Amino acid sequence: MKRIFPLLLTVALLSGCASAPEPVLQSFFAMDTTMSVTAYDRDPTEALVAAQQAVNRLDALWSRTRADSDVAKLNAAAGSGPVAVDPDTAALLEKANAAALESGMAFDPVLAPVMDAWGFGATESETTAVHRVPEQAELDALLPLTRDLPVVEGDTAALSLAGQAVDLGAIAKGAAADYVVAALTEHGVDSAIIALGGNITALGTKPDGSPFRVYVRDPQGEGEDFLCLMSLRAGRTCSTSGGYERYFEADGQIYHHIIDPADGYPARSGLLSVTVVAEDPALADAWSTALYVLGAEEAIARWKSGEGTVAGMDLILVTEEGHVYITQGLEKGLETLGEGAGYTYEILRR
Ligand code: ADP
Ligand code: MG
Repeated sequence: MKRIFPLLLTVALLSGCASAPEPVLQSFFAMDTTMSVTAYDRDPTEALVAAQQAVNRLDALWSRTRADSDVAKLNAAAGSGPVAVDPDTAALLEKANAAALESGMAFDPVLAPVMDAWGFGATESETTAVHRVPEQAELDALLPLTRDLPVVEGDTAALSLAGQAVDLGAIAKGAAADYVVAALTEHGVDSAIIALGGNITALGTKPDGSPFRVYVRDPQGEGEDFLCLMSLRAGRTCSTSGGYERYFEADGQIYHHIIDPADGYPARSGLLSVTVVAEDPALADAWSTALYVLGAEEAIARWKSGEGTVAGMDLILVTEEGHVYITQGLEKGLETLGEGAGYTYEILRR
């Protein structure tokens, strides 16, 4: 035994410390989208399992389609008083309400009846969704059910009007990133890249200490066409919303899944996509949707004002004319890739 020990130690040193850990990828399907967590750790198996379990738990709370979820119970009780919800659900509803108010209701967590009318809602999955263009009269009848935000008190929530329904599709995936980070960290992982649908979160840096690099998609290209490649600093989340993600065509028109709560129609703000980089992943998710509805002019004005949530974020706004606005905080390490495809770039400063 005495002689074997130093030999084992040598082997451990060679294999263990000489090189950085290889990334280990775990992909899974949750919240109606493909998710992946890539951990840079010698043995992240348990951490990855815990991360996936964390997302599954939230999916079970926040799904609209599972009858026993908090959101389904809240929706079923619309107009008839409060229901008990998990503290995590109460916290997310409060965050959603705050984003709704600050965005002037461009982000509306109770837009579900309108989304259902377009076939973007209840069935969620693209394979089973039945898309249709609703009559204006139908939308007009549904709009009064929107805007009236859920009332959260302690660990209860209530919708005041019968027929109202919450849909957290524009914030839940981002919110889940916080829980994934917690699960990974608890299991000793301090370097990972977390992709939950259109939201990418950097836990720490790459093992060599350099920031993770992420691609932003060309909203007019195929899945492999990119607008830019940028550094995502430790602890930040990059969230992209675009009309190209879910849409259908009817009578030669494209109808996409980001709805302007003002009229119940797919937003036509002149933007093709909005990318938000922020510390809080739920806010990155909610505001990428909100700013897509609000448009470039309003997004830039809010950012330039230096006040409010948007001013504390970095943005990439892609207009229908192919102009790409990028806020100064993203300039370092940025590689623009879309010039060949006709995009022009401008750094926004304040
Ligand atoms: P994705 O879910 O495709 O990554 P988003 O984060 O932009 O994209 O969220 C879009 C989803 O949010 C829609 O599928 C719908 O469920 C919901 N939604 C659409 N428009 C709004 C809106 N104005 N406010 C809040 N939620 C919205
Ligand atoms: Mg969103």
